This record gives sequence, C-alpha cells and structure tokens, in this order.
Amino acid sequence: MIDTNRLLSLFEKLISFDSPSFSERKIGDFVTQQLHKLGVSVWEDGAAEEIGGQCGNLLGFLEGDLTLPPLLLCAHLDTVKPSHNKQMQISKAGVITSAGETVLGADDCAGIASILEALTALKASGLPHRPIELLFTVAEEPYCRGVQALDLSRIRSGEAYVFDLAGPVGTAAYQAPTILSFTSVFTGRSAHAGFAPEQGIHAIGVAARAVAAIPCGRIDGNTTLNIGTIIGGTANNVVPNCCTLTGEIRSYSGTAAMKLLADITQTMQKIAKEHGAKADISYSVHVAAYRTDPESAVAKRFKTVCSELGLPGHLVPTFGGSDNNYLTQKGIQGIVVATAMNNCHSTREYTTIAELEHAARLALALMLSKE
Ligand SMILES: [Zn+2]
Repeated sequence: MIDTNRLLSLFEKLISFDSPSFSERKIGDFVTQQLHKLGVSVWEDGAAEEIGGQCGNLLGFLEGDLTLPPLLLCAHLDTVKPSHNKQMQISKAGVITSAGETVLGADDCAGIASILEALTALKASGLPHRPIELLFTVAEEPYCRGVQALDLSRIRSGEAYVFDLAGPVGTAAYQAPTILSFTSVFTGRSAHAGFAPEQGIHAIGVAARAVAAIPCGRIDGNTTLNIGTIIGGTANNVVPNCCTLTGEIRSYSGTAAMKLLADITQTMQKIAKEHGAKADISYSVHVAAYRTDPESAVAKRFKTVCSELGLPGHLVPTFGGSDNNYLTQKGIQGIVVATAMNNCHSTREYTTIAELEHAARLALALMLSKE
C-alpha cells in the first residue's frame, strides 16, 4: 500500500524547505496543506510567539471508523544547520545523501514523510481505522523548545509514537535521560602580566584546576558528564580575571544528575576559594528522564506491529532527548521509534529507500492496528 515514488517525492519536497529551528513557517504550511487534503483537522498553537519562532506546533486529528482510542504519531518540523538549499542524491544502491554541503534533513523529514505517506495510503485504501492524532512540533532540536510551549492537555491519546530515532527501523527507545547544562563563571583579579603579576588572580588557572578535578566522561552506567567549552582572558599581557566553563550532565536518574551537579559545584567553589577566586554556577534542566515499561501497551503494540512487518521490534535505551521526554511527563505512554535516519546532525547524514519504506509501513500498521 505504501507507494515508494510518492514517498520519495514527498521526502524530497520536505527537505527542500529550509527549516532550521524557529524558521518552520514554510514546511509547517506545506504539512498543514497536506493534512487538510487528507481530511485531517489541524490546530496550530501559539508556540511561534512564545518561543520567538515563525510557526507553532501543529496538532492534527483524523476521526476513525473504529471505536478505539486514538494513537499519537509525532515528528518534528525543524532540522539542524547547515540546512540552506538542501538537496538529495540517490545512489544505485538506494542510499540517499545530501547533494551539497548541508545536512540531508532525514532528521526529521523521514519521520514527517513516513507519517504523511502512511496517511495517504490509508485514505486511498478505504480501510476502516482507528482515530489518529498527529503532532508536528517546532524547535525540537534546541532541547525541545517547541513542545514545551504546547498545552499537552490537548492531546487525547494515551499512547505516543515519536518518529525521531537513528538506527535500523524496527528499533524503539523506551528510556531516555535527564539532560541538564551548566555554566560556571570563575572570577579572579586582573593585573599587568609583566609589571605586577603577583597582584592578579589567574581565573583561567583556577578554572583549569577545576576541570582537572572534575571527572568527565562516563561516570557510571547511568550517567555522563562533559565540560564542553572554556572561554577566558582578554590579552596576552593581562592576568585573566574571568573564565567561563560550560558543560552538560545526562543521567537516567534525575536525582543522580542533580546530585552530580551539586558535587561538581562544591568542587569548583572549593578550588576557587582556595585561590582567592569565586565560582558562580548556573544550570538549566532541558529534559527530564523517563522510562516507559517495556511491557506497557505502547511497547507491546510496537513489537506486534514489527513482527507483522518482519522488523526486529527491539526496545533499547537511548542517551538522547526528544519530544517524548515531555509527552511522557504528562502521563502519555511514549516510545521513540527509529525512522530511517543515520549520521544525524552531520553532513554525512543518510537514509535509504528501503528504510523509508519500512518507516512508512510501520506508521501505516500502527494506524491500522485493531487493539
Ligand atoms: Zn530529531
């Protein structure tokens, strides 16, 4: 029922829009138009204004013939950069890559294309189906800013399938971490580096000691810590009075993430104090950890549908965030399904015709599932 040519032209059309985060107006209008053609009612929320973007989140609903609860299928409208003038090329083996110096945009146009092609095939088939709810979010890439602006009480479904995971189609993530980032500003004292270095307090030196004392990398099976940037100083002849570190913590346990943050805060402040400097630490929690029970209805349906389609049906933990981190906070059972995207967030990003077909078949099978 999935039409490969239709699916490929849809994918090509979707990636042709330059839709970096906060600039999703054109792709959003195209998706809305497609949904209207398929008889789906669409409501755009006020996220554009709230987050300073062009387009809001799109929430669609297709009434069903069957009296079953609706299922939610979700994908995001934005892509990472470089994204201007994205074009694709297809190899003889059916591998689809960017034809230029941009990302391909399979993250997450593969998700949008799969869902829209599945809806098109569903409509063409005339088969009875359950009610289907659709969510296309904006600004997912910058830590899910778009979905955070959505009134999640509007969602009617108890089960969510977020089409936004790398890896072979037939895999889904049931667990994802809390992700928080932090900024540490070390303040020392400036002085002339040649005339009076002893009057200075070397903020870069203090920050370097702090970096050396903090365990970066995999802390344990549940938690990672990284210091990602360091910026400081003003000139070669000035003892630097300021140095800023930024980093992130990820953990399957929100409590463990906060405990680690408290520990490193203490370490940084202690070292700063020992050297007569000061360390001010601020942080922001971007997404909260979740774990969807692998025996829950959403996971079971995924496995059933995969076995019908001859796909593996593997449930795995992921160490990345997605809109699902927010959906699950509201009591929706959600998993993130692999959606024909690989090497995401790089210009080496690729998908394949076969994987796109699998993802569209998966979306269609969920729409047609009878339990
Ligand atoms: Zn994505």
